[in-house]
Amino acid sequence: MSNDSQHFEISKHKDYLYVIKENISIVHPVYRNDPLNMYLVLGSHSALLLDTGCGLYPLKPIVDDLISGRKLFVLNTHTHWDHILGNEEFGEVYVHKNEANIVSKPYDLSFLIDSPCEIVKKYKEKNFSIPPAKIIKKIKDGHEFDLGEISVKVIHTPGHSPGSICLLTSRGELFTSDVAYYGDTFLPKRNKFPQVLKSLSKLIEIFEKQKNLELYPSHQKYPCDKTLLTDLYNGIKNIENIWDTKKLFDFFDAWQIDGEKFRYFISRM
Ligand SMILES: [Zn+2]
Repeated sequence: MSNDSQHFEISKHKDYLYVIKENISIVHPVYRNDPLNMYLVLGSHSALLLDTGCGLYPLKPIVDDLISGRKLFVLNTHTHWDHILGNEEFGEVYVHKNEANIVSKPYDLSFLIDSPCEIVKKYKEKNFSIPPAKIIKKIKDGHEFDLGEISVKVIHTPGHSPGSICLLTSRGELFTSDVAYYGDTFLPKRNKFPQVLKSLSKLIEIFEKQKNLELYPSHQKYPCDKTLLTDLYNGIKNIENIWDTKKLFDFFDAWQIDGEKFRYFISRM
């Protein structure tokens, strides 16, 4: 089992970009999108942390160490459990306005009560209810974080969740959150696919203007190139052709469909 010092894997990817990786399958084997990638962008006077992870071990001391006195902005790319449970450690967290209500109150983790993983004891100690950050700041499309010599712009890309955002830096990184990554892909109900495709188109359009962008997804492999976006776009479009192959996946209240490059979990709720 992990302990404090080995739970997070930290790597300096660029002078101004750290990746803090956390495995989420240790919480329940049903989650297979390891690792979760949290990104820390360092400007000259401020830093931006994308997501706060599973809340199992202290994250803030690690971040404080890396930012060497810079002002810190903390942001949730969306409010699924694996991205927000460390919020409590930080005083103030930014999130898209569509999901601010979810992270403004204690987060109910009771769906993990029957997990076979020992680490879940840590959640049990908190009665499967994880406190929120004290201050939640709502943001919307176009919001910009000025970190000093680097700015980071918020792009609202609903679909995976109503308040999912991606982030574009002035240095050419596009953080795609859970909107696009290679792995198990979580989608809303089928009637919301047009919204998912519209968000992916929005990202593809950004690529058309700025050809050498690098993609940094919140799970699994990074950096990726534009193929990730087109693969996912085409894969989701193709779901209607393989709809009959769907299987019930109770844990997620979803339909599971195995595509060529992605495994889809499509909400039934
Ligand atoms: Zn996730």
